[in-house]
Amino acid sequence: MSKHSPSFIEAIAEKLHLIPKLHGEDGEALPPIVEPGNLTDYPPPDKWDNWVEYEAKSGQKREKKNYMIVPTTCFNCEAGCGLLSYIDKETMRVRKFEGNPYHPGSRGRNCAKGPATINQINDTDRILYPLKRKGVRGGGEWEQVSWDEVLDDIASQIRKALQEDRRNEVVYHVGRPGHEGFMDRILQAWGVDGHNSHTNICSAGARFGYAIWQGFDRPSPDHANAQFILLISSHLESGHYFNPHAQRIIEGMMNGAKLAVMDTRLSNTASMADYWMATYPGSEAAVLLAMAKIIINERLYDEKFLRDWVNWRDSLAELNPNVEQTFESFIAELENQYSEYTPEFAEQESGVKAETVIEVARQIGRAGTRFSCHNWRSAGAGNLGGWAVARCLHFLSVLTGSVGTEGGTSPSAWNKFKPSGFSTPPAQKFWNELHFPLEYPLSHYEMSFLLPHLLKDNRGKLAVYFTRVFNPVWTYPDGFTWIEALSDESKIGLHIALTPTWNETAYFADYVLPMGNASERHDLTSYETHTGMWVSFRQPVLREAARRMGQPTTFTYETNPGEVWEEDEFWFELSWRIDPDGDLGIREHFISPYRPGEKITIDEYYQYIFENTKGLPEKASDEGFTPLDYMRKYGAFEVEQAVLEKHLDLVPEAQLSDAEIDAERGEVCKNGKVVAAIVDSKARVGFNTPSRRQELFSKTTVEWGWPEYSIPTYVKSHIHPDALGENEIVLVPTFRLPTLIHTRSGNAKWLAEISNRNPLWMHTSDGERWGIETGDLVRISTDIGHFVNRAWVTEGMRPGVVACSHHIGRWRRDQDAKNNRWSTNQVTIDEVEPGKWKMSVIEGIGAYKSDDPDTSRIFWTDGGVHQNITFPVHPDPVSGMHCWHQRVTVEKAYPEDKYGDVLVDTGKSFAIYKEWLAMARPAPGPGGLRRPLWLARPLRPAEEMFYLDTPK
Ligand code: SF4
Repeated sequence: MSKHSPSFIEAIAEKLHLIPKLHGEDGEALPPIVEPGNLTDYPPPDKWDNWVEYEAKSGQKREKKNYMIVPTTCFNCEAGCGLLSYIDKETMRVRKFEGNPYHPGSRGRNCAKGPATINQINDTDRILYPLKRKGVRGGGEWEQVSWDEVLDDIASQIRKALQEDRRNEVVYHVGRPGHEGFMDRILQAWGVDGHNSHTNICSAGARFGYAIWQGFDRPSPDHANAQFILLISSHLESGHYFNPHAQRIIEGMMNGAKLAVMDTRLSNTASMADYWMATYPGSEAAVLLAMAKIIINERLYDEKFLRDWVNWRDSLAELNPNVEQTFESFIAELENQYSEYTPEFAEQESGVKAETVIEVARQIGRAGTRFSCHNWRSAGAGNLGGWAVARCLHFLSVLTGSVGTEGGTSPSAWNKFKPSGFSTPPAQKFWNELHFPLEYPLSHYEMSFLLPHLLKDNRGKLAVYFTRVFNPVWTYPDGFTWIEALSDESKIGLHIALTPTWNETAYFADYVLPMGNASERHDLTSYETHTGMWVSFRQPVLREAARRMGQPTTFTYETNPGEVWEEDEFWFELSWRIDPDGDLGIREHFISPYRPGEKITIDEYYQYIFENTKGLPEKASDEGFTPLDYMRKYGAFEVEQAVLEKHLDLVPEAQLSDAEIDAERGEVCKNGKVVAAIVDSKARVGFNTPSRRQELFSKTTVEWGWPEYSIPTYVKSHIHPDALGENEIVLVPTFRLPTLIHTRSGNAKWLAEISNRNPLWMHTSDGERWGIETGDLVRISTDIGHFVNRAWVTEGMRPGVVACSHHIGRWRRDQDAKNNRWSTNQVTIDEVEPGKWKMSVIEGIGAYKSDDPDTSRIFWTDGGVHQNITFPVHPDPVSGMHCWHQRVTVEKAYPEDKYGDVLVDTGKSFAIYKEWLAMARPAPGPGGLRRPLWLARPLRPAEEMFYLDTPK
């Protein structure tokens, strides 16, 4: 609840002209002063094949180094920033990574995790060859095998499952995605409904909140051009889209924008904000609705946008059919519906002062179409009803008319490039109820975190299970239940871990297959970093260097370290071998579009996409390149500079033939469906909803059993103070550190040096209340067990809430390969009673000898504590999102407790899974549907599969 004034240091720095003058005499921000920087500090592209610079370590000797510079894309978070790899031409090894100035999203800038890719590729503990399990699963014994052996074995097991029509037993489960549509091709070519993701422990809650308004499930804020920016936590900006968003927030602020952050923790972003609103977790929607009420009452809304683009007629007819059905009555009804959300109510729920709520609301209203905002994990992922936070936040975008505007917030799909496919396989005619169980018809993505519970509940089994850069044993809640499932070969037949580094889930695999890091693989990436649309090319840089030097390669593992491969080629080869005679209809989707009848190569796959990318062939030709060579050279392409207000696009005349026009409602209908919204006398594409408009009143929530959520509403969280016991407090376990990634940063030494512990944050007053000081051992008890951590007592935390970062606490057992030793504790795991698991830290981090001299310089000893494994699953009954926040007790550690101890009872966690399952309102919905047809679904099956009476 603080307002930013220039600090003493800032004020002095401004006076001495060390930084630009940012504040007037009264501390208020000054008008715009800067433009984005230029690119002159980067090597010019015409010198990239032969770039000479002094060796940084050579000192006075001024030794020159000769590099070939090859671009690629960072693999360490979803933002997909551009990297330039500097390949030492003497050793033909990558020496360092810097930013790629030709990447439209990152513009040459990276966070710490981008350059740290060099640590990952040089990690002396990394997996270099395909490994096959020896002995019992999880026993830690492995033998090196050939890629041929791996492919033949897996292909024969998949082929058998397909031939025996056990298609729902073949599953691909992705942790870090990032190759635009590639796996849809593979899985649909195989004809399986086998896509599972990590989204329901990550963003499904927020996605549902956006989707129910507008069909599009992700926001794309234009922070750089905003006048007011509101972030629900700093999660995205400090950890996820750290660099592309952060640089644009700063640009916006330098140009006069104000920043407000709702976060229980004084994050880096909150500390730079004009308003830090330390809301009680789960109360965010109450604050947002109070702001909405102020904007409505004070007539700060954008009337034209509401009239044109909100389903106000349907909303009013449902909410109050007895009044005259006019826009004015609609506004009056909104005032009536939201009358209880006073600033005082918001203060009571959240702790944010009523006057701050009013002040921020007025600033948002005045920013109008230049109000940008974002919610991703954080509140959307923490709470029962977390999806309602994104829905209420988007309500502010709708009221201010800032949907799709410059300085506003667009649907992300407008900024996302979709590659053209050749020989697209048909949609699968299967529905996998292990991913989309009937209990969760509106779940925005697969119920992935329930997989082991559904297996334990005897709802199916898996014959072939791929985990791809995915580590649920450590990242997910209830990791011991995952260990139980992965150890049971009657539940999971063949487990293949595709991973660039060892992880806690790979310990329980049958094959561990080494996959490339950012500079060792092909992928396409495109994300909503700003108003533009771009595509970035991840490429194996040593393979590209070899090609430039006239040394062609057949497979990427020939130029990577050891036999590290890449997934694209792996899936092509595997698909080819599953269908040796072409009788399963798989091979036909992997034939070269350039050489009839021949198997496609990786170069041809990307050649086809780039040749069919709007504007790329022309741009490439201007510079004398083919489209593929242009991407190899620059690594990225800006498809469109700014995509705004796409809802105003006109529907082509041809699509309107035979359509019926309802002039009063402003709709064009065809076959009973609204196909266009009439605005300003023109038929426009609108949004992806049944009404083509923003849906304030959602008929879908009513028809699918949730009438209480028909309009944006505050849903009280499972950790609302009313739901806590006498000594209980809420634990926020979701905050990210900007220097780490969930699993993959474990072998990045620079990052581990910066961040290597995850103490329990608590406010000074709570520390005093419990008699706990910084460094004290504390026992944190959840509903299924406990963990033992150290306390960090700070003023940078909201009183009455504790928090712990989820990034740290990696582990390995004695029998496991020595791996990620920058970050893994050595632990023992014992099943002390059936279903009761105890983890104890035997040894923390320490120096060791290896080919990397830095391993003997490790000075830290603390590897942190694994907290997620002590959490039960909490599936939100509407969105399907796992609700991460925990009610816990915090006590001084018991005499027998040791740092890092974990105890969990999986019997209790199964009971909690059942308890939350009972809160669901299962399908079928209207017309016998498993799920509304209009809502998106990953790897969308054929339409008949949406009906419950169609056999699976
Ligand atoms: S923001 Fe993400 S993609 Fe960009 S450099 Fe950092 S980790 Fe890499």
